[in-house]
Amino acid sequence: MDLIVDLHIHSHYSRATSKQCTVEGLYYWGKLKGITIIGTGDFTHPDWFTEMRDKLEPAEPGLFKLKNKLAAEIDRTLPETVRNNIIRFVPSVEISAIYSKGGKVRKLHQLIIVPSFSAVSEINARLERIGNLKADGRPILGIDSKELLRLTLEAEPDALFIPAHVWTPWFGMFGSKSGFDTIDEAFEELSPEIRAIETGLSSDPAMNWRVKNLDGLAITSNSDAHSPQKLGREATVIRTDMTYAAIAGAYKTNNESLIGTIEFFPEEGKYHADGHRLCGVRFTPEQTKERQGICPNCEKPLVIGVDYRVNELADRPVDYQPNLKQVEYIIPLAEIIAQLRGVKTSSSKAVMNECEKVYAALGDEFSILRTVPIARIREAGFGLLSLAIERLRNKDIVLEPGYDGVYGVIKVFKNHDERQQATDQLALL
Ligand SMILES: [Zn+2]
Ligand SMILES: [Zn+2]
Repeated sequence: MDLIVDLHIHSHYSRATSKQCTVEGLYYWGKLKGITIIGTGDFTHPDWFTEMRDKLEPAEPGLFKLKNKLAAEIDRTLPETVRNNIIRFVPSVEISAIYSKGGKVRKLHQLIIVPSFSAVSEINARLERIGNLKADGRPILGIDSKELLRLTLEAEPDALFIPAHVWTPWFGMFGSKSGFDTIDEAFEELSPEIRAIETGLSSDPAMNWRVKNLDGLAITSNSDAHSPQKLGREATVIRTDMTYAAIAGAYKTNNESLIGTIEFFPEEGKYHADGHRLCGVRFTPEQTKERQGICPNCEKPLVIGVDYRVNELADRPVDYQPNLKQVEYIIPLAEIIAQLRGVKTSSSKAVMNECEKVYAALGDEFSILRTVPIARIREAGFGLLSLAIERLRNKDIVLEPGYDGVYGVIKVFKNHDERQQATDQLALL
């Protein structure tokens, strides 16, 4: 069975997150999105851990499910088309490790996944001695990433430790601001314990395949959602039994049970290109080099994005395609609908209502974006949407890359005229 896995999310105890990031909220949206395995996020936070223990119970070995009574209440509020989707949780957390090494300040985000609440307790007990776990669901700790890895494995040998969004400028292992150039520099003799990395929204597997240093590692994706509506904007697809050991095994061995990833178009990520948000300057790596990395407006150094950094560390050409794993690109349904309606915010009530109609008619979002036949989408009364999804599946879209914290824009129709043409074409059908 194909499992869609999203291990990196945040609870309502992390900064700048939605109040709906509760266990129930994640369950509800997990079903609408079509995700099977959801990381709980934030397990180091004492109140969130209490919430996890109150609401979750053991299911298959190393996995948890929402308690039946709570699940039944939420299922009643879900459309029938998604009600029978299976949702399992696994304890996870992202830690912000801030330390200095090699004469530089390092700020790296690391993802930890474990198979039991007792492992959570073990890790939390050790981390409590290092810093405050209550201040933020994603704790900021003064610990070397290598020591964090060591401590994690001592507490739980079966833990999965994944450097998060490895290319982002500020908190990525290879980030331009505070990262390293190789895994060995960061983890030294413990490097062999790093078996998987997270691409982050601004990079995709093809970009990572260009770097020899990453050969053999599992290239994985998660949403890093700060609200349950953003669950699964990226995810990893695996084909294994539904147990922690099988899932972690796929990540650790990168074998054929790790099918591949579902990706944002990397251009849509906030740090794909280089630039200055306040100066309105967005550069490709070539433009940045021409200008020696200096902003033409304010004369200060530009924020160097993911594309530039990958080019800097890559050993292979842009079009290197070893064909290792399946890579699918998606645009979230709410964003597509917002574009079709010509509105800016994908979180508006009108857009959400329309999403709900689509879910109720056709099932969960991943099925709609990936597999439901285009004709069926049209026959269900969503003509324009069917054209948009057809374009998405054919990658017939327009990309404006993100930079310096500004999300990129991916358009299914170039402009108003093109959308109008599509509408007219539909009327003829
Ligand atoms: Zn992070
Ligand atoms: Zn500037």
